Amino acid sequence: MKLLLILPRNERGFWGKVSKKGKAGFVRLNLPTIAALTPKEWDVEILDARAKPVDYDAKADIVGITGFTTEMPSAYEIADKFRRKGVKVIMGGVHVSALPDEALTHADAVIIGEAELVWHKALEDFKRGELKQKYKAEHLCDMKNMAAPRRDLLDRAMYLSGFNTLQATRGCPFNCDYCAVTAFFGNEFRVRPVKDVIEEIKGFDTKDFFFVDDNIAGRPKYAKELFKELIPLKLRWGSQASITMAKDPELLKLYAKSGGKYVFIGFESLSQKNLEKMHKGWNSAKGYKEAIKKIHDAGINILGSFVFGLDEDDKTVFKNTFDFIMETGIDAAQFHILTPLPGTVTYGVLEKEGRIIDRDWAKYHTGEVVFQPKSMTIDDLQNGYYWIFRKTYTINNILKRSLRSPKGITYRVAMNFSYRKKALRMPDVTGVYYI
Ligand code: SF4
Repeated sequence: MKLLLILPRNERGFWGKVSKKGKAGFVRLNLPTIAALTPKEWDVEILDARAKPVDYDAKADIVGITGFTTEMPSAYEIADKFRRKGVKVIMGGVHVSALPDEALTHADAVIIGEAELVWHKALEDFKRGELKQKYKAEHLCDMKNMAAPRRDLLDRAMYLSGFNTLQATRGCPFNCDYCAVTAFFGNEFRVRPVKDVIEEIKGFDTKDFFFVDDNIAGRPKYAKELFKELIPLKLRWGSQASITMAKDPELLKLYAKSGGKYVFIGFESLSQKNLEKMHKGWNSAKGYKEAIKKIHDAGINILGSFVFGLDEDDKTVFKNTFDFIMETGIDAAQFHILTPLPGTVTYGVLEKEGRIIDRDWAKYHTGEVVFQPKSMTIDDLQNGYYWIFRKTYTINNILKRSLRSPKGITYRVAMNFSYRKKALRMPDVTGVYYI
């Protein structure tokens, strides 16, 4: 039996793209994990439709597709074409779990929630000709003895430094309104046994890797145990974490000592009112500067994330945020337009208020306005986003941030130039906006 797993294309966004030379950023673990959960008697292939055209005549008994909301139009197109050829299609992932009935208009079956507990059953049913429409795990999976993702099925040549990714924890102890993490992974913050994580890392073919966890510091005691075990391996890594990590000097020290070179932190907004409204009030805007200094002093680079279009944001938000980034020396920054992803609280609120103005999922990549903002116009939000992205990544501004200290400069410069490439793909609104 042949299982063909497909990662769809992202038609419009700035994230998750494959370069003209066919190079991708970080490996997403979804399909390699599904492949690892598939019984040995199956022949499994992973096709990355971002890099290779889909061959609809390829031999496949069943096709599995997953993707983010922005990839859904591509995912549905691929699913429709295979089904027209008589091949069964099964879909899963965050978007499909939020809107399973929508997905079922393009797929024969859907996996709702984590696949670990139901994937076997779906394949068994398929083999018996009894595939059901919905497979939903009744509880969250235990993270002990997890199958290592089948990285051997990926095209290694597509990835430079982002090939070795792994997950040590699932979920996040917080529940911010616009974020799909807790909606998908549940309220429980789960961790893998440290020894399992270390075993997986020891199998990597490079010294660099990335924890794809949503909050590696979500349980400080666990994080410290993990970091201590990493120290003797002398590796280099990065992850995402909440700014609460700055409150714990021991955690910061171990993060850096174990090879943690950079951390992705969601600052989201400089307005405490915005943070309170999105249930992220534990992020203290007043305390950002001090927290940034502590993280920098520990020798860790910061990649900050900011969201625009929250109800308290008027058009001054872009200049204020830019000034803050330059003043605090945040090493690199990622910007997002508030996007009501299905399944999130934000989606429900904007839907109820009649403020969702565009339901073309391809535009849900956080770089296009799909809702009516409260305190500025749609054009202001869109142009402000382009403006801050380009302004943050001018050569002058990159140098100002990168030269703040010789320590970690290589990472800073590399991060900045990779974001600069994205920034230069955005329209230049100089003269239209602010400058
Ligand atoms: S802290 Fe980050 S990962 Fe956790 S719920 Fe908030 S946005 Fe999502």
